Amino acid sequence: MNTRDLSPTARTRLGRARDRGRLDRKDLYDVLDAGMICHLGLVLDGSPMVVPTGYGRDGDTLYVHGSTGAQSLRSAATGEICVTVTHLDGIVLARSIFHHSVNYRSAMIYTVPRPVVDPDEKLIALRAISERLAPGQWDVVRRPNRRELSATAVLALSLDEASVKMRQAPPSDDEEDYELDVWAGVLPVRQEFGDPVPDPRLRAGIALPEHIRYRADHIPPR
Ligand SMILES: Cc1cc2nc3c(=O)[nH]c(=O)nc-3n(C[C@H](O)[C@H](O)[C@H](O)COP(=O)(O)OP(=O)(O)OC[C@H]3O[C@@H](n4cnc5c(N)ncnc54)[C@H](O)[C@@H]3O)c2cc1C
Repeated sequence: MNTRDLSPTARTRLGRARDRGRLDRKDLYDVLDAGMICHLGLVLDGSPMVVPTGYGRDGDTLYVHGSTGAQSLRSAATGEICVTVTHLDGIVLARSIFHHSVNYRSAMIYTVPRPVVDPDEKLIALRAISERLAPGQWDVVRRPNRRELSATAVLALSLDEASVKMRQAPPSDDEEDYELDVWAGVLPVRQEFGDPVPDPRLRAGIALPEHIRYRADHIPPR
């Protein structure tokens, strides 16, 4: 496990609002572990493409997966990519429109993906991706068979070159605007799960498993 803090490179050094940057590697893991999707940015045939997709983390490796037919994954396997994970935590309502902002936690990762071919590592990756969305599910469902595994492309992304940025603060207005008769503050934004909806084809007598009930009753970790 890489315990080194994040050391900014020429491209991960924050340009603006540097005080919002975090160099503690744990902050990177916390942002990743609180998310369920990432955005995978790549250049495909000379055009930029940003693809929302699931991911999982195992130690210092982030995994993404998809169909072997997915052109984004095929292209990502051949060059540099940039992945982001973003959490919107609040709308920051200031006294002037200029100072409106958002509270957030976000991470950006630059890397050259490594295609995963080893079946054992593929399973580790798929488990990590599955557990990100539905912890506990891997242990109760049918695992991928050989045909399904070979139809699934998996990329391993190193977390060596990454940046983290966070804003968690009230509005920051111009001093003279604090006299204005305008409400100011933060409107928190939260992601939550709803009540589980059984599959119409669910066989009678199959109860909602505890790990899904637990997930449904808890907002995703912050
Ligand atoms: C939900 C959300 C909404 C936002 N809305 C706005 C907006 O409307 N306008 C605006 O100007 N900015 C917004 N930001 C901030 C924005 O993400 C950039 O941080 C900011 O625009 C600075 O960009 P820059 O082009 O100067 O990049 P630079 O700061 O020069 O980027 C250099 C490097 O810093 C790192 N970096 C930059 N931004 C981030 C980040 N957010 N997270 C992690 N690493 C980062 C990357 O490694 C990047 O390569 C928002 C952020 C979030 C999460």
